[in-house]
Amino acid sequence: MTRPYPWRCGTCGNKSVGPAVVPFTATLKHENTVHEVHLEAMPANKCDVCGEISVGEDADTMARDKLRETLGLLPAEVILQNRKLLEKKQDELAELLRVSEASISHWENGRIQSRSSDVLLRLYFAIPQVRHFLQERMANPKLGEQVNEDWSAWRAELALPPNYPINNSWTTMYTVTNDNQNPYGLAS
Ligand SMILES: [Zn+2]
Repeated sequence: MTRPYPWRCGTCGNKSVGPAVVPFTATLKHENTVHEVHLEAMPANKCDVCGEISVGEDADTMARDKLRETLGLLPAEVILQNRKLLEKKQDELAELLRVSEASISHWENGRIQSRSSDVLLRLYFAIPQVRHFLQERMANPKLGEQVNEDWSAWRAELALPPNYPINNSWTTMYTVTNDNQNPYGLAS
């Protein structure tokens, strides 16, 4: 439980600190580039006498969320939700994507994924065939060494069953499904 306002100011000593909403700028580094993130309305505490401002613990999280949005990267909660929708544990997804289990955990808890990892995650979430490919690669490390010019060549390489959709079925294939029960992403 939070103490009732007003609080005593750590700077000027007056009992004059109350809740406020302030503009906030954070400096965040992502992939060796420094970004300034501006937030118009950050919850904070402000001293009415000396003007001292302190932002809450969630300021960093809000700044990272904003930077993700600016850079067009998947939000942390979307990564978490989609992984759970696909019934994959963190270590299972990490093994499929060839990243560390800690990376998955970090991405779901605020640390911002690289742009290339973001592409990998998007492909994995959006396209059942990508999930199938990565699953197959666990047993067949050579997958991806040859260029397949069309779907039939790809189907042959993976020895997919005859009912695997390869032509005009993209709309149905984009349906996110439980891969354990429906490994080929077929609409039911
Ligand atoms: Zn003060």
